[in-house]
Amino acid sequence: MLAVANQKGGVAKTTTVASLGAALAAIGRKVLVVDLDPQGCLTFSLGHNPDRVESSVHEVLTGEAALREVILDTEEGISLVPATIDLAGAEAMLLMRPGREFALKRALATLDNDYDIVLIDCPPSLGVLTLNGLTAADSVLVPLQCETLAHRGVGQLLRTVGEVQQITNPDLRLLGALPTLYDARTTHSRDVISDVADRYEMPVLAPPIPRTVRFAEATASGATVLAGRRNKGALAYRELAEQLVAHWDTGADLVTFSPTA
Ligand code: ADP
Ligand code: MG
Repeated sequence: MLAVANQKGGVAKTTTVASLGAALAAIGRKVLVVDLDPQGCLTFSLGHNPDRVESSVHEVLTGEAALREVILDTEEGISLVPATIDLAGAEAMLLMRPGREFALKRALATLDNDYDIVLIDCPPSLGVLTLNGLTAADSVLVPLQCETLAHRGVGQLLRTVGEVQQITNPDLRLLGALPTLYDARTTHSRDVISDVADRYEMPVLAPPIPRTVRFAEATASGATVLAGRRNKGALAYRELAEQLVAHWDTGADLVTFSPTA
């Protein structure tokens, strides 16, 4: 179970969950993705309209529906726990409940071993929804957009991860940062990554995900994310999927990216 988190918006969390999920499914894994963002971008990008979804992760977190009942199929061959705008109210609702950080973990525990991998798309905040994602997960991946000030907020995110490790999920592992929207033609992207690697004790994973127009087009149209499977971005997510599987199956070290090499 892997949470993809960064309280900054637009760093490719949702793109990473959808593309990595599709890539893992393509190599034969049974994948469930969970949309924890009230904006429902993951739900939309996987071909479901958040305004028309009958029940969603909101009902699951508030205890009104069983997780299995809300799971949808997608054209990517991955299963989806959708989000709707109702989830914006779940924050307030959950805050009133004891054990509020554990709602998603408890729901996922009802799935037994139906899925090989669960990917959780966290919203752009460090609120109770992200705490649910981090509490349910075994590990967390932090997409970092390779732009100036990318490191802003990383310290705060790592403090939150540390608190979750101390309080609600001692087994949570920080897998590392994933460079996204990477432009290999400029030194700028490399400088940003070196800067982050220097400042924080966090591995930077390879391969960096290149910026490609295909992704912007795919999400805007709600079309399947890996459509045009040979574009550079899709290939990078494939490579990441293979690396993660090798890491999970055999304990192989994750390959890190060193921008100076
Ligand atoms: P987040 O979930 O962190 O807010 P998204 O995954 O929604 O970020 O991505 C933000 C925007 O960046 C979207 O419009 C998406 O299509 C675009 N995007 C993501 N990854 C890439 C990429 N590798 N190349 C080009 N555009 C990308
Ligand atoms: Mg998102």
